[in-house]
Amino acid sequence: MIETIYVEDAIKNHPRTKFILKKFKKSRIIAINKYVEIFNKRNQNFRIQKANPNLILAHKKDSFVLPTPEGFGIGSSKNFYFSHMYNCIYDCRYCFLQGMYSSAYYVIFVNFEDFEIALKKTIENNLSSKLTFFSGYDCDSLAFENVTGFAKHILSFFKKHPQFEIEFRTKSIQKEPFLSTKPMRNVILAYSLMPELMSSSLDNKAPSISKRIRVISELASRGWKIGLRFDPLIHGKNWKKLYQELLDNIYNNISLDSLHSVSFGSLRFPKRMFKDIFKLYPNEPLFTGPLSHKNKMISYDIEIEEEMTSFCKNLSLKYVNEDQIFKCSI
Ligand code: SF4
Repeated sequence: MIETIYVEDAIKNHPRTKFILKKFKKSRIIAINKYVEIFNKRNQNFRIQKANPNLILAHKKDSFVLPTPEGFGIGSSKNFYFSHMYNCIYDCRYCFLQGMYSSAYYVIFVNFEDFEIALKKTIENNLSSKLTFFSGYDCDSLAFENVTGFAKHILSFFKKHPQFEIEFRTKSIQKEPFLSTKPMRNVILAYSLMPELMSSSLDNKAPSISKRIRVISELASRGWKIGLRFDPLIHGKNWKKLYQELLDNIYNNISLDSLHSVSFGSLRFPKRMFKDIFKLYPNEPLFTGPLSHKNKMISYDIEIEEEMTSFCKNLSLKYVNEDQIFKCSI
């Protein structure tokens, strides 16, 4: 239940605003001038808000499509991301959004058409490059799909541009719009995964790993391309056994022909962000484990990072080709 919905004046009559508001008939609606008045207010408490987040409907003005940081990609020469939403309905302990925003309220930008214009411009400016676009960098790309309908909308854009890839990265088990659409070769449904035991204490409010694997298997069997994202890799007691079970379970339960790519990334935070997240959970074992400072980042010791990545990579090589495996190093 969303108690309050803040609506920017500029989009109060937008058809998508009306479409979303219809889903929350009992919510209190408050008109605002600009979303930042609420979202960027000082002295907000992310954790208190996260228990019962409000929603903000807004109009995005700029920065619709941005280059991804160096080290983020799955084989294309250029990578871009876009986010129709800020924040997430899940509450993963390691989520960088809680160190990035002071508010846990959900912001939805309703002017999807402007994302399309920016995508088109990005494509026109990079005609000779192989491009991948990533949806859901500042949110989970599908978790709120039943409210926003963004994935369904943007799929129609990529249907017209089959030479450019889009990845929807998610922990959700949202199957629409993929059940009701013919599979597209340029669309990658990418699932973040970790051993169930770790996920059950870290991926709060997100669907269990076994449910995610069932959905992956179903969508793969329908012909959708699948990405497996073991990011972050989590170190802990019995990690080798747990990751071996997870990887064998996945690879034995999906059609390997459907696999687009597999990527590994270790647990890492920009130093300042880590400080803020640590303040939220000073007793969280995840943040008191074998972490160290590297440049401006906090991450596992390099030996741990490398051991985990090569262990999981070697197991994966029994099932996929080396050129399908990537390391995320941002
Ligand atoms: S699913 Fe992703 S965006 Fe959502 S809380 Fe977890 S890490 Fe953050």
